Amino acid sequence: MIILKEEDREIIETSIRNIPDFPKKGIIFKDITTLLNNPKAFKTLINHLEERYKEYKLDYIAGIDARGFIFGAILADRLNIGFVPVRKKGKLPYTTVAEKYSLEYGFDEVEVHIDAFPKENARVLLIDDLIATGGTAKAATSLIKKVGANCVEACFILELDFLNGRNGIDSDVYSVIHID
Ligand code: AMP
Repeated sequence: MIILKEEDREIIETSIRNIPDFPKKGIIFKDITTLLNNPKAFKTLINHLEERYKEYKLDYIAGIDARGFIFGAILADRLNIGFVPVRKKGKLPYTTVAEKYSLEYGFDEVEVHIDAFPKENARVLLIDDLIATGGTAKAATSLIKKVGANCVEACFILELDFLNGRNGIDSDVYSVIHID
């Protein structure tokens, strides 16, 4: 089991900026652009994820549109495995499978290509920047299942613990930073 060193957690956490009242009043938006433009913090994070996941025998990483693409694609390259985008509705050009999920007002939908994971019973790590209510990640894990793959863990850079989003996810969950 790879444990994140306290000093490394501090480097990552302090690189993420809080933007109050974005995109609407009452939300504290966790802005990871200040992590991405900080090479020390970015490398500390990716090194940690590489250490954790190199023993998982993963076949693919699936990243959630759009910030999950950044972390997922880099980690996939480090682990020498494929990357699969889980996209918002209407963006993927080939035949897709879709899953709806509810937002505070209304619904959204994510999709993957039907042949996204060519290896049979593929072991997949799902990744996104943040888990809040867990609705997006839950939809993404069920999509992975629908197209015949196996989501072995869902990984987030940040978790808003007070929303208990992980309870709805049907796989192991790992978050680098927890916000109470
Ligand atoms: P949820 O489906 O409620 O877990 O929301 C997760 C998605 O919304 C992720 O793709 C996040 O990037 C985004 N998100 C939700 N809340 C925040 C927040 N406070 N700061 C930054 N991103 C957020």
